[in-house]
Amino acid sequence: MKVFIGVGSNLDNRKENIQKAIEYLKSDPHVVVQQLSTFIETDSEGGPPQPKYLNGVIQIETGLSPRELLSVLQSIECRLGRVRAVRNGPRTIDLDILLYGNIVVEEPGLQIPHPRMWKRTFVMKPLLEIAPYAEMEIKPLLKKINSQ
Ligand code: ADP
Ligand code: MG
Repeated sequence: MKVFIGVGSNLDNRKENIQKAIEYLKSDPHVVVQQLSTFIETDSEGGPPQPKYLNGVIQIETGLSPRELLSVLQSIECRLGRVRAVRNGPRTIDLDILLYGNIVVEEPGLQIPHPRMWKRTFVMKPLLEIAPYAEMEIKPLLKKINSQ
């Protein structure tokens, strides 16, 4: 399954955090990292005043289910020392499942496509860089847009 993961970091050495997250993803036997977007510096949105982010998108191919992938991403966040102190607060790393093939998931604790991605330039810009719309799995996009 082709999956796009949103990545953000705004604490400590942001580049190093992102590089480590990519290495951890690569070392998972069920994940193949296929493409990386450019990582862009962005102002934080929402939450308390905090440092600027580095944001980008990773494309992977995986046999993991959405839930299994979420727990892999959460364990990588933990390994990189992420502490969930404040909602939308600063973080060493944030890994979000943006799109999982053309599958729609609406469960407590897991929504795919990621519900807030459409309005976030820091997600859509890097996503569209590596997934031009013709190639993207647009069914979930249409479903989401039609329901708004
Ligand atoms: P955020 O990414 O919104 O800033 P967190 O990373 O702390 O906040 O995530 C909060 C919760 O969002 C997680 O516990 C996770 O269960 C849930 N979640 C729902 N949908 C997704 C998704 N598509 N990708 C990642 N997490 C998700
Ligand atoms: Mg997150």
